[in-house]
Amino acid sequence: MSTFVERKVTCPHCGVDEERTIAESLNGPRVPDVVDAILGGRFQTFMCSGCRGEYVVDSPLVYLDFDAGHWLHMFRREDEANWAACEAEADRTFVQTMEVHAPPMVREWAARMVRRTVFGLGALREKLALIRAGLDDAALEAMKLDMLRRTEAFSWRPEAPIRLVAVLDDGLRFEQFDSDDVVTVPREWLDHVAAAAEWASARDAVAAGSYVDIGRTAGVVATV
Ligand SMILES: [Zn+2]
Repeated sequence: MSTFVERKVTCPHCGVDEERTIAESLNGPRVPDVVDAILGGRFQTFMCSGCRGEYVVDSPLVYLDFDAGHWLHMFRREDEANWAACEAEADRTFVQTMEVHAPPMVREWAARMVRRTVFGLGALREKLALIRAGLDDAALEAMKLDMLRRTEAFSWRPEAPIRLVAVLDDGLRFEQFDSDDVVTVPREWLDHVAAAAEWASARDAVAAGSYVDIGRTAGVVATV
């Protein structure tokens, strides 16, 4: 089930309050327009009636796709520094919803679901694009470590995550949060990191919980 609520939202540019429709949960297959908006980077992007400035509302939501077996728990981007507590909260929510208070059939679904904890709509977009393309997100996060070493366009800044924005036929397109730079790399790079034994420990480190992200290895990344 998808749940939307009307909520007063304050423009971060000028302080004008407006009523907005905000998602709290999304049943992906039932809201294809919303999924397209997330993948296109347009979801919950509003224009202020006061100053005409644009802003994004990334309040927490749970994205579900029972058919494909995806459960993505999104927190606000600014909460990423507290990822360990949020990951634990996401774990509790999943267990309560899908196991403790669920009929046996739902518990069977739960056992097969791919579950992720993400921060902000950019991270939700990245995971959705990846899992819909059947790509390995742990390998992608490990590949970001390699990208930080080998590409000049991006640098490691925890407050400005590097996000995949599109899976193309022959490449993967990335942006860094506060930069206009776009980098497209060959798919073979990801295939290599996904398969190579030398990348196994990095793949394991970024995927040690439902928050599959280089953010959980920040101390390691800082020395890359
Ligand atoms: Zn405004």
